Amino acid sequence: MRRTHADLIQSLVRQRIIKTERIKSAMLATDRLDFSTDRLYEDAPQPIGYNVTISAPHMHAYALEMLEDKLVPGARVLDVGSGSGYLTACMARLVQPGGKVVGIEHMPELVQLAIKNISKNGRSLFDDGVLEIVTGDGRLGYPQDGPYDAIHVGAAASSRPNELIDQLKPGGRLVVPVGVGSQKLMIYERSTDGHQVSERDTLSVSYVPLTDKAKQWRH
Ligand code: SAH
Repeated sequence: MRRTHADLIQSLVRQRIIKTERIKSAMLATDRLDFSTDRLYEDAPQPIGYNVTISAPHMHAYALEMLEDKLVPGARVLDVGSGSGYLTACMARLVQPGGKVVGIEHMPELVQLAIKNISKNGRSLFDDGVLEIVTGDGRLGYPQDGPYDAIHVGAAASSRPNELIDQLKPGGRLVVPVGVGSQKLMIYERSTDGHQVSERDTLSVSYVPLTDKAKQWRH
């Protein structure tokens, strides 16, 4: 029998990677079919052009669970390296009503792709102003819409991303792969009084680098 999106999500629940009902329903509503063309329901990254991939479903699930308590109605969120738009759409579902998610992506073609994908998947996310995808260098964050309750980075920073940490609200949390060659998925969190930033490493991961547009892709 052919595997469906629901089968894929159920397997992430069984593996206890998806832990909460809220993340389960956000991912269930965001069918890979609208974001990828190949091996849709395999738990693996897939090419989306421009030398990058849509992340594996289990990585989307880990990232969402790590940010779950920050992805609440009304929250402000930044998704750096939004790529296919998959995670950006999941986050938008979690922060409505009243919240806003900005996806920032440096390849204009991928900005267009994400807008197309999300329009297929949940057009109302744009209508409600809960989601916006902008073109730019995500290493600098997007201070215009900050500070943020949650920031996710879908590509690996070579070192501690201070510009992004500066854009966290008091109590805000950043999930970002850090490292060159071997990477750790890091969690940075600003204290509620705003004065301190804690840091913790979690999984070893393998993401494409957060880089210059020209280094990633030459026409
Ligand atoms: N979460 C996305 C991940 C895509 S891969 C998804 O699952 O679809 C990482 C993305 O980061 C790519 O789209 C790449 O173009 C983008 N990227 C790399 N360096 C960047 C930078 N400096 N600024 C913005 N986006 C960047």
